[in-house]
Amino acid sequence: MKIGCPKEIKPQEYRVGLTPDAAREAKAHGHEIAVESGAGLGAGFPDEDYIAAGARILDSAEELFAWAELVVKVKEPQSVERKMLREGQVLFTYLHLAPDPDQTRDLLASGVTAIAYETVTDRAGGLPLLAPMSEVAGKLAPQVGAWTLQKANGGRGVLLGGVPGVAPARVVVIGGGVVGTHAARVAAGMGAAVTVLDRSLPRLRYLDDVFGGQFRTLYASAAATAAEVATADLVIGAVLVPGAAAPKLVTRAQLKTMKPGAAIVDVAIDQGGCFETSRATTHQDPIYEVEGIMHYCVANMPGAVARTSTLALGNATMPFLLALADKGWRRACEEDEHLLAGLNTHAGHLTYAAVGQALGIDV
Ligand code: NAD
Repeated sequence: MKIGCPKEIKPQEYRVGLTPDAAREAKAHGHEIAVESGAGLGAGFPDEDYIAAGARILDSAEELFAWAELVVKVKEPQSVERKMLREGQVLFTYLHLAPDPDQTRDLLASGVTAIAYETVTDRAGGLPLLAPMSEVAGKLAPQVGAWTLQKANGGRGVLLGGVPGVAPARVVVIGGGVVGTHAARVAAGMGAAVTVLDRSLPRLRYLDDVFGGQFRTLYASAAATAAEVATADLVIGAVLVPGAAAPKLVTRAQLKTMKPGAAIVDVAIDQGGCFETSRATTHQDPIYEVEGIMHYCVANMPGAVARTSTLALGNATMPFLLALADKGWRRACEEDEHLLAGLNTHAGHLTYAAVGQALGIDV
């Protein structure tokens, strides 16, 4: 099969959908690979790496989209890219169609077979192509939180790990899923005193079994959450209610109970954020202040570490990409219900119920 990887054109997107290693493996499976010139540069992969892996380099997105039978990307196709998609072609990338009627309409009009990373499932009920980005964002959260707490950035001037004779910072993580667990591990590793709040008792049991001693766990009642937030130096928002906007767990009024200069990192901002005062920010201008509390709310945190994120995403997508290329999308989906769960559009039809419900389109 002809597998094509274009350069990402969404602003500030430096990841790439195909690593040279993945290109090499796909080539070994007998497929032809093409990469748009410069596609890997943001993640530290020059064209030569792809050529060495057996790929050819195409000069323009137009050439690449026209050539490829399977297009592998990172972000949802932008308007100009959607015009280049066609029936019979397979698109494998993040789509997030539910809040995006324009994109959904264009994909349906194109007839493309679109398989969305974010709805592919696994046997444990997880989302294996979202998890790597949650791992990255979770590990980044204490790092950016520590930076936000620095005096020059408007923070309290507290060092996460403290020093001998000076208490460490108090870090509160709301939501103990993939993001929260990675955030808690890193914050604890930096020497902070960490508490993880969650509403799922099985999840709290798991965290306590595996990480007992490294951080405290607490049931996330409204009262416990309020009390923890009031005494925290850094609060990390990491909740997810699948298919829904993030619940607002900390109100503007509660910010007044917090220590002046304390920091919030709202990782859940891509689902609307779990603090009432959160609004999405960018890597260029990541923090702002409300009621004396510094907010960091970057919606695409993994973009800050494009190379690590590209490698992590590539590890997760590779088996699915190879299945799609080796078997063709239809047989690959027939033989794997988890890949089938990723199918969002085909030949002008919407094939994913939750998107249909969100947008009022028949599935
Ligand atoms: P996850 O499903 O693994 O974990 C979410 C956890 O939140 C679950 O353990 C759940 O029990 C808990 N939860 C739900 N409601 C709660 C409540 N009211 N109080 C306390 N806990 C509650 O999800 P995840 O992969 O860890 O993702 C967390 C969030 O981070 C999502 O919104 C995701 O989209 C977002 N995310 C953002 C970025 C970014 O760049 N900003 C990157 C990756 C993920």
